[in-house]
Amino acid sequence: ERIIRAENVDKIYPNGCHALKQVSLDIKRGEVVVIIGPSGSGKSTFLRTLNQLETISEGTIRIDDVSLTDKKTNINKVREEVGMVFQSFNLFPHKTALGNVMLSPVKVLKKSKKEADSEGRELLKRVGLAERMNNYPSHLSGGQQQRVAIARALAMMPKIMLFDEPTSALDPEMVGEVLDVMKSLASDGMTMVVVTHEMGFAREVADRVVFMEDGELVFEESPERFFESD
Ligand code: ADP
Ligand code: ADP
Repeated sequence: ERIIRAENVDKIYPNGCHALKQVSLDIKRGEVVVIIGPSGSGKSTFLRTLNQLETISEGTIRIDDVSLTDKKTNINKVREEVGMVFQSFNLFPHKTALGNVMLSPVKVLKKSKKEADSEGRELLKRVGLAERMNNYPSHLSGGQQQRVAIARALAMMPKIMLFDEPTSALDPEMVGEVLDVMKSLASDGMTMVVVTHEMGFAREVADRVVFMEDGELVFEESPERFFESD
């Protein structure tokens, strides 16, 4: 069953940069797709079109059969359903880990503080931060901050999670703890689209590897085929 269906997507930025050219990709519910390719090939742009942080110039994107370009579509609702984790963690510095995770459930989903608090605690446990809930971001390592960012995205109960180079800003010793959280999400059946240079993750966790070059989706393969030695 398809959850994401991108068809002939083009993106031309206002400055004329043609960042996506006829990109088509179907993703099934529960699938983990890793996007690789050189810098500037359009990976980040494509990811951002999937939750409409970036509008598209041509083509269609459907999430659960809802077209993102249909004027009747409530884009805010789509954004709630498609969580995103960035290279830079973007936590609110004046809020604790728990405060960061509770914010959107209270403000956007209008949950009670009590409910948001108990769900937030569960999510922080799930990402291995039970002991760090009351720490401010400045008192957390990069790996811990990124795990808070993942918990914060999960607090919106998304159907899909997008990851844009989630470990690229981390010191090497912290990469593993973030990838472990992503692996456990994948094994829980989360649909994930991941831009990463971590080939170990792609090999172990991806159902499909998609390669982009100069705005085009050049090929897609199973990791078994992609990484097979010849
Ligand atoms: P990648 O994630 O593969 O590094 P990007 O999606 O960031 O690639 O960028 C694809 C192309 O679009 C690049 O040529 C980049 O310079 C350009 N680009 C990205 N964002 C913008 C923007 N906001 N305005 C104009 N051009 C952009
Ligand atoms: P990445 O490759 O990780 O996406 P970049 O360094 O290409 O990172 O881009 C960082 C930010 O700058 C992004 O928000 C992107 O949209 C923007 N950007 C990239 N290229 C351009 C460009 N040519 N003009 C304007 N904004 C750009």
